[in-house]
Amino acid sequence: MTERLDVTERLDATPDLAALAASAARAAENCRLCARECGVNRHHGRVGFCRLDLEAPCYKALLSHGEEPELSPTALLDLGGCSLRCLGCTEWDHVVEPWRAPAVPLRADWLAARLTRWIAGGARTLSFVGGEPTVHLPAVLKTLAELPPSLRLPVVWNTNGVLGPGAFALLRDVVACWVVDYKVVDDGAARRLLGAGSLAYVAEVEATLDRIEAAATPSAAGSPGGDGLPRLLIRHLLVPGELERSTLPLLERLSQRWPSAVVNLMLMWLPHGPALSAAAGPTALRRVNLDAERAIAIAEATRLLGPRLRLDGKRIA
Ligand code: SF4
Repeated sequence: MTERLDVTERLDATPDLAALAASAARAAENCRLCARECGVNRHHGRVGFCRLDLEAPCYKALLSHGEEPELSPTALLDLGGCSLRCLGCTEWDHVVEPWRAPAVPLRADWLAARLTRWIAGGARTLSFVGGEPTVHLPAVLKTLAELPPSLRLPVVWNTNGVLGPGAFALLRDVVACWVVDYKVVDDGAARRLLGAGSLAYVAEVEATLDRIEAAATPSAAGSPGGDGLPRLLIRHLLVPGELERSTLPLLERLSQRWPSAVVNLMLMWLPHGPALSAAAGPTALRRVNLDAERAIAIAEATRLLGPRLRLDGKRIA
């Protein structure tokens, strides 16, 4: 087994973004920026599982009011490419083909022009979404380092959780709010539904959640307004046919661990990507959730999580 990237030095309370960007670029020479640990040199091309070099393709950028109320309105950037291949991925085309149109390279001057407008329009946070933003650490950190301080919003990192200790160390003092998708609770389901292959999916996600819980409150990079942001928000999507196998055991686990986390149970599955194909995955993926499945999930989540629970992003009355 290859030795993992280990970035353990204590970072300053106010992160040195330029130094972190340089560390991320160096790490991409023998890339272990996510748990795939490809060990390839991304300075020489798009040669790893994620098919990315050092540029980050941004295919969607908007001021979003559609995230959880704690995060919204948020300046939201969708970056192509990912470390997983989830059968129901809504962004599938941009995951498997990161530079598919209308993707453009993420750049500080390009982002600054948009942030100026979005902050005037009420943006409270800056959300990096994918795909998986962690595979873009060199470009994201470089972009943040080059932004004028007046445009630095609290960073929201929307991740699949399989990011590994090195990437977490680079992000620890940069991210104000972690949004972690926790999808299934066994590695067999992760292989079947998420394309996890040989990844120890559950152990990786839970190690990430443990690191977030253990980490100190970040400075949010000199942010102008992080009030009310949760440190950790865990999202779980109810998948048709997976209530008993994934959702109920996961709710039980969430009720016992990561007590500071807000939990968003999402119920509105619509078949996307390979889930639409008769050749890929279980038949149940090609339908929506049944009323009975939703009702059981809501009742259990309410019983187990109480005020920490959100349903499709909304607080329960
Ligand atoms: S970031 Fe990409 S190249 Fe690096 S380990 Fe992950 S999948 Fe492989």
